[in-house]
Amino acid sequence: MKIAIVGAGIVGVTTAYELAQDGHAVTVFEQRGAAAEEASFATGGLLAPGPLAPWSAPGASQAPAYFGRSAAPRLGRALTLAELSWLRRWRRAARACAKSGEPLPPLAALERLARYSHARLLRLAESLDLQFEHSAGTLMLLRTPRDAETLTPVLKALRDAGSTVHEVDADAARAIEPGLSPALPLAGALHLPDGLAGNCRQFALLLRQAAQQLGAEFLFNTRISRLAGSPASVQVEGEPTPRAFDAVVLCAGVQSAALLQPLGQRLPLVALHGSSVSAPLREELHAPLGVVVDVASQTTIARLGQRVRVSGGAELGRSSAHPQTLNTLYRVLGECFPGGVSHSSGVQVWRGARPMLPDGPPIIGPSAAPGFWLNLGHGASGWALACGSARALADQIGGREADIGLEGLGAQRF
Ligand SMILES: Cc1cc2nc3c(=O)[nH]c(=O)nc-3n(C[C@H](O)[C@H](O)[C@H](O)COP(=O)(O)OP(=O)(O)OC[C@H]3O[C@@H](n4cnc5c(N)ncnc54)[C@H](O)[C@@H]3O)c2cc1C
Repeated sequence: MKIAIVGAGIVGVTTAYELAQDGHAVTVFEQRGAAAEEASFATGGLLAPGPLAPWSAPGASQAPAYFGRSAAPRLGRALTLAELSWLRRWRRAARACAKSGEPLPPLAALERLARYSHARLLRLAESLDLQFEHSAGTLMLLRTPRDAETLTPVLKALRDAGSTVHEVDADAARAIEPGLSPALPLAGALHLPDGLAGNCRQFALLLRQAAQQLGAEFLFNTRISRLAGSPASVQVEGEPTPRAFDAVVLCAGVQSAALLQPLGQRLPLVALHGSSVSAPLREELHAPLGVVVDVASQTTIARLGQRVRVSGGAELGRSSAHPQTLNTLYRVLGECFPGGVSHSSGVQVWRGARPMLPDGPPIIGPSAAPGFWLNLGHGASGWALACGSARALADQIGGREADIGLEGLGAQRF
């Protein structure tokens, strides 16, 4: 089939690879000058377990009340009706999850997809020899015993699926991550030895090359201004007529909802902004070895090659809270790994928008308009979910049953 993909973030690139691998003629349209320039640029890096990425699903981990505003979403002054409606649905689901202490079906669907995706990513990395920065092991810091309570639903989902989660005391946590500050008050930690962090953008650039070698064409600096139906077509900005394809896959991140609307499909997709700070290693002994999640502040600190990346923050609407988010990131990095990084040069500060649906998991499958397919809404764990989402979508387009159950991942749920 002749297939167009709109968007070359991590989701578009993995989709291009899988479809090209299946023998389709793939063209990727990307408005920016390179792949992974938007949400996929400098993610926190957490790959596994995917549901542990802060804000992965409502109720996956509740911000502890004592920590106050730095761990709660910051709301802009003039939220749109769509953002208010999203917030209501997210909070309602989070309350239901907290009340039952059980993972809601969307969280279980997310866990299933993340597990599948992890396996697919490892297979691709090995078979294609993709050398990307990564680090192994996830440590969840519990500053007080109450932090563990907030994680009950997500830990249940992980344990039900067979993940290894060790509860360790503060001394054992410091033995796993010897760079942790001795001054950091710790009640204990959860250690997930199978955890993984990696450099999303680097992986996307390497996989883009692999897709190109399979014949996929990437058109950069090429914006799609409109999608048109019957036959499925994309209108490239500046061209006189739309280009027709056998199928069009929408992987346009936060901009997907606006592109889809003229086709008569409305999605409750919003942008939840967050930030990351990447700094060069200063002293290896005081830096993380793997990825550390600070449950209290909902931030992650990951070792990526010769850099350390701290990431977090959740700003909804036109928020001016970016400076507060950055303060939290610098504070948490300083509390956990003082002296581990250099702040004097080579520091990269980034702000990105998570494409969020109100129940957590993405949409992978057909849209309401014939010929248009969706792979979007990966929220806070798109890096962790991308490889599996792409394979599952390619299977559907090819008329095959996907290797994982797709319940809870369709567009019909909205
Ligand atoms: C602070 C932060 C930390 C995060 N940490 C993690 C983490 O630790 N682990 C994890 O798994 N996930 C994490 N995420 C989430 C992850 O970054 C996203 O889920 C993922 O990058 C989404 O990928 P995407 O390809 O859907 O979107 P994007 O990367 O935004 O790609 C969409 C692409 O579509 C292009 N596009 C849009 N409209 C058009 C158009 N009209 N024409 C042509 N091109 C178009 C855009 O330019 C863009 O390149 C984090 C996100 C943030 C913001």
